Amino acid sequence: MDAGDSHKLIIITAPSGSGKSTIVNFLLQHFTNLKFSVSACTRLPRAGEMNGVNYHFISAQDFEMKIQEDAFAEYEMVYPGKYYGTLKSELVSIWNQEKYPLVDIDVQGAMRLKKYYQENALTIFIKAPSIEELENRLRKRGTETEESLLERISKATEELSFSNHFDHIIVNDNLALACEQTQQLITSFIQK
Ligand code: ADP
Ligand code: 5GP
Repeated sequence: MDAGDSHKLIIITAPSGSGKSTIVNFLLQHFTNLKFSVSACTRLPRAGEMNGVNYHFISAQDFEMKIQEDAFAEYEMVYPGKYYGTLKSELVSIWNQEKYPLVDIDVQGAMRLKKYYQENALTIFIKAPSIEELENRLRKRGTETEESLLERISKATEELSFSNHFDHIIVNDNLALACEQTQQLITSFIQK
């Protein structure tokens, strides 16, 4: 891997409930040269989530301090009162390990990173076959309150309108097929 290569990154984005985390987990098992970029966020951990593994869970005050320190490659208030951000230090640390960051972020954040990293960034938008199916998946996942579920569905409708801003769109209907298609896109991007 040469120096230019080591600055490639893969950005996966999707409305919440589309199956992004499921596909990201599949990719991490199949590519040893990808490393999950752990974002900072100010929401509370869900059952089973670990600090430093799923997110760096920090207070809003600490998050705002990091904004002042210019520590983020991008950040967003993704949901009311809830900040999420990609730490520059996280990307650099992954590149220093000669791996490619796999960044799982919202649509606005993904567009911002793409604008900055341009052809060094591969952007993939994952979508559920329909909003109804997305709602079913979120309900079945059982992680949301009715309020946060409605918030996510309303945001999903808006995010879908940006799908054509990304390098590729994958429809996650059949999960195995969506995983295979995503895997192929990443393989050819890395080999380029
Ligand atoms: P996201 O990270 O985009 O919010 P998840 O990966 O958590 O979404 O997926 C949302 C829910 O849908 C999970 O319970 C997951 O197991 C399920 N799921 C993912 N892909 C599919 C699929 N192709 N068909 C049916 N259910 C799926
Ligand atoms: P969740 O609360 O379900 O873990 O994530 C909510 C949304 O925030 C998801 O769409 C996720 O991709 C996005 N997200 C996670 N980390 C970041 C980040 O660092 N920056 C941005 N902009 N969005 C993020």
